[in-house]
Amino acid sequence: MEDLCLPTPSTSAEEMVCVNLVQNPDTSLNRKKLKTSDQSELLEDKLHGILCCAVCLDLPKAAAYQCRNGHLMCSQCFNHLLADAHLRIIPGVCATCRSPISKDTCFRNLVVEKAISELPMRCSNCSMKFPRAQREAHDKQICPERQTICCYKRIGCPWSGPFKKKLEHEKRCAQPLKSGDEIKQAVGPNFPHRRPITPAIFQENDLCDYLSFEKIHYNDLKLVGPYQTDGYFIRFETFRFDAFGMQWEVRAYVNSNEADPTLSSERTLSYQLLLKESVERSIHMHYTIVNCPAGEMKIKPKVEDFTFSSKNPESHFALLPLVDSMECYRLLSGTIKFRLIMFWNDSREEVKT
Ligand SMILES: [Zn+2]
Ligand SMILES: [Zn+2]
Ligand SMILES: [Zn+2]
Ligand SMILES: [Zn+2]
Repeated sequence: MEDLCLPTPSTSAEEMVCVNLVQNPDTSLNRKKLKTSDQSELLEDKLHGILCCAVCLDLPKAAAYQCRNGHLMCSQCFNHLLADAHLRIIPGVCATCRSPISKDTCFRNLVVEKAISELPMRCSNCSMKFPRAQREAHDKQICPERQTICCYKRIGCPWSGPFKKKLEHEKRCAQPLKSGDEIKQAVGPNFPHRRPITPAIFQENDLCDYLSFEKIHYNDLKLVGPYQTDGYFIRFETFRFDAFGMQWEVRAYVNSNEADPTLSSERTLSYQLLLKESVERSIHMHYTIVNCPAGEMKIKPKVEDFTFSSKNPESHFALLPLVDSMECYRLLSGTIKFRLIMFWNDSREEVKT
């Protein structure tokens, strides 16, 4: 009878639980447990409502900002509000209380950020629950449903599937037992694998090639504005600067000169280089925009080129190769600083205009 875990005069509380569960699964204790989990989910919901961004109603994924009256905004919405106000040439205001917002008057709320990182979330693949801060680790290293490939992929095994089935597959994977000829066929004509040639590598090489140009000049510049031109085009421009003994300027436009860019949600910036004086001969200039020292612009630099002359002093518009639209919003919400590098093979050009 002792094996059945029946209560004796000396039975501890823990053993009583065991007895309760064995004898009657629907006891008050079980109900209590359910009630506690219900309550914690209710609390999570309430906290979600309290800590969410007042604009998009989502929990901030990174920084959380607050207006001077304490209303919370995620960093994306904060940048959106500031950028849109900047483009309309009006002051930014809090979406809830209309008090003025700016990068100087709004501060991050670290307590909110910390509280959010501890709030539990559920993985949509495996239903496991974990603190929000562990999401990346869960998706990349822990989730048993995360997509994986066979360790014999390089010798031609095409298997892919959830991590929980990976070990079982690899144990009976037929690939390592195949003959050399079969493996050669399975991996195709590109064997042995070489590092894939990506546009990024081309760009790196190009930039290195430009370092051997005869004359190189760089300027750290700041876009001022925006200026509203006819038809509501939004323009930014730098002050005039000197390079190779000539005067230049950079202009930037939002959304390829779209009339009223604040009506659409995608943001791009395009720029042009302008020669601000007349010249005797044409000048074939290569140039690119990169991050300025200690800058945070997320950009994949691309070299442009244009032949400047007195007849053609303004280059084409080149898209500023930012990583995404969000980065453009971030730039537009503050001061846009960058480094312009110009490359010139002077002696190779003697064409008169
Ligand atoms: Zn938001
Ligand atoms: Zn507010
Ligand atoms: Zn998961
Ligand atoms: Zn395999």
